[in-house]
Amino acid sequence: STAIKIRNTNKSYGHLQALSDINLDIKKGEFFGLLGPNGAGKSTLIGVLGGLVKKDSGSITVLGKDIISNYRETKKSLGIVPQEITFDPYFTVRETLKIHSGYFGIKDNSEKIDELLEALSLTDKAEIGPRELSGGMKRRLLIAKALVHDPEIIVLDEPTAGVDVELRNSLWEYVINLNKQGKTIILTTHYLEEAEALCDRIAIMNKGKIVKVDTKENLINSI
Ligand code: ADP
Ligand code: ADP
Repeated sequence: STAIKIRNTNKSYGHLQALSDINLDIKKGEFFGLLGPNGAGKSTLIGVLGGLVKKDSGSITVLGKDIISNYRETKKSLGIVPQEITFDPYFTVRETLKIHSGYFGIKDNSEKIDELLEALSLTDKAEIGPRELSGGMKRRLLIAKALVHDPEIIVLDEPTAGVDVELRNSLWEYVINLNKQGKTIILTTHYLEEAEALCDRIAIMNKGKIVKVDTKENLINSI
C-alpha cells in the first residue's frame, strides 16, 4: 500500500519553477531516495509535504489522506528532519523534546524521550542547552525531535550534509534500523553513494522535475 501519493504538484517562487508537475508514489515500508544536485527542488518537495511550503497546484496524500483537508492527522504521521538546524536556545535537550511532543498532544512520553536520547547518544546531554551542543549533537537532536511522536513516515532532508564520516555512519545505521522496524523512510541527498548505500528505490530530481524513478539496481545498471 501507498505511504505517499503526489499528483501533478507544482510550486514556483516568482519566475522560478521549483517543482514542475511532480508525480510520485512512495510505498509503505520503503526506503526511498530523492537524489539530485543543489537547487533541484528536493527541499521544496519536502516542504510541501510537511506543510511548510504551500504548493500552487496538485494533490498529495499521506497514508491515503489529503494533506490539506487532514492537516493535523497527516502531520502526525510524518517525522520531518529538516536541513537547517534551529533550536530555541532557552530549553534543554529534554525540554526541547517534551515541548515538541506537546505539539502533538502527547503529555507523558518520558520513556520514549529516554529511548531516543539513548539511541542517539544524547543521554548525558539531556539537561544542557543547544548552545552547548556540537554540530553533530545538534543534528542528532533534530532527528530525536522528528521522532518523539513515533511517526509512520520519516523524512530526512540531507541528514549527512557537512557531517563527519563517523557520525554519518552512525546516522545511516540508525536510519536503516528504523526502516527494518517497518518505518517508511524518505531521504534527500545529493550524494549518489548515499542513495546507493541506503535506498531501495530512487527518484532522480533536476531543475524541479523528476527525471527518473527506479530501483537502485536498475538505476545503477543504466548508468
Ligand atoms: P541547499 O539545498 O544548497 O542547502 P537551498 O537552495 O535549499 O540550499 O536554500 C536553503 C534555504 O534558503 C532554503 O530554506 C530556501 O527556502 C532558502 N532559499 C534558497 N534559495 C532562495 C532564494 N532564491 N530566495 C530566497 N530564499 C531562498
Ligand atoms: P534542493 O533542496 O534540491 O537543493 P530547493 O528546493 O532548496 O532545492 O530549491 C529549488 C529551487 O528553488 C532553487 O533554485 C532555490 O534557489 C529556489 N528556492 C528555494 N526556496 C526558495 C524561496 N524561499 N524563495 C525563492 N526561491 C527559493
